[in-house]
Amino acid sequence: MGLIIYLDGEFVPEEQAVVSVFDHGLLYGDGVFEGIRAYHNRVFKLREHIIRLYESARTIGLDIPITMPEMEEVVLETCRRNGLRDGYIRLVVTRGRGDLGLDPRKCPNPTIFCIAASIQLYPEELYEKGLELVTVATRRNLPEACNPRVKSLNYLNNIYAKMEANLVGAPEAVMLNQEGYVAEATGDNIFIVKNGVLITPPPYAGILEGITRNTVMEIARQKGIPVEEKLFTRHDIYTADECFLTGTAAEVIPAVKLDGRVIGDGRPGKMTWELIHAYRELTRVDGPVIFREDERSMNCAG
Ligand code: PMP
Repeated sequence: MGLIIYLDGEFVPEEQAVVSVFDHGLLYGDGVFEGIRAYHNRVFKLREHIIRLYESARTIGLDIPITMPEMEEVVLETCRRNGLRDGYIRLVVTRGRGDLGLDPRKCPNPTIFCIAASIQLYPEELYEKGLELVTVATRRNLPEACNPRVKSLNYLNNIYAKMEANLVGAPEAVMLNQEGYVAEATGDNIFIVKNGVLITPPPYAGILEGITRNTVMEIARQKGIPVEEKLFTRHDIYTADECFLTGTAAEVIPAVKLDGRVIGDGRPGKMTWELIHAYRELTRVDGPVIFREDERSMNCAG
């Protein structure tokens, strides 16, 4: 059975969920989106994702025609219509239908759609062994040109980097900013651990300010782990005690090699494991409930 998709105020079977070839999301990558997870009948960090969506829209000058609470309800109801308690949700707002010119003023009505699907999880083995990363030549977008803090539909920068990683058979790429400082991976943020301190690049390094990144920093601070947002180079990764990536799909995933250099002892580190477990715990309790009946029966069951 196909999925039920939210599209511009309606829930329709996926065959009927079609957008115009004149949609500027398609013609120009003009739009914004979020990738969100549902775990254990809850939508994890839903509020944070909705806020980031509206902030991205604000920066590209796109007025989303529904309110943030309405958008939260769109996500929850899309999950309900698909019987989804665990999965991956894609929420997209495009500039809408216009003409063949790129002027956004010709697009009066943004297109909004939401897909709630199952997720293809990374094999557990990757978490146990850790990833081998490579640095790629493609630099992360210049913030003054196309700010990585906006989660826009324009992902060519990241796709170029992914293609370079594919060429050498690496599962993820490390992207540097224009100054040569470490920015992020193609679809994940990056952290290192050095002498007990957790370090990640600041948003001004030219990165997407990941929800998972922020959650991991919050968990670490609660555990009393010192956290620093500061610029660092590849040398700092080569010489780090531990390294890991964070993202909605990957969660927290260890990295054990960069450009052929072994990081730490070449195995996922102790702090990384602690954060993986704490993050997984949090996914059980955070976010609004999708199906209320489950909540009641869960409560009755004690
Ligand atoms: N950086 C980039 C470029 C991304 O696309 C993503 C999301 N896939 C992330 C970082 C991680 O962000 P989040 O934790 O919010 O998923």
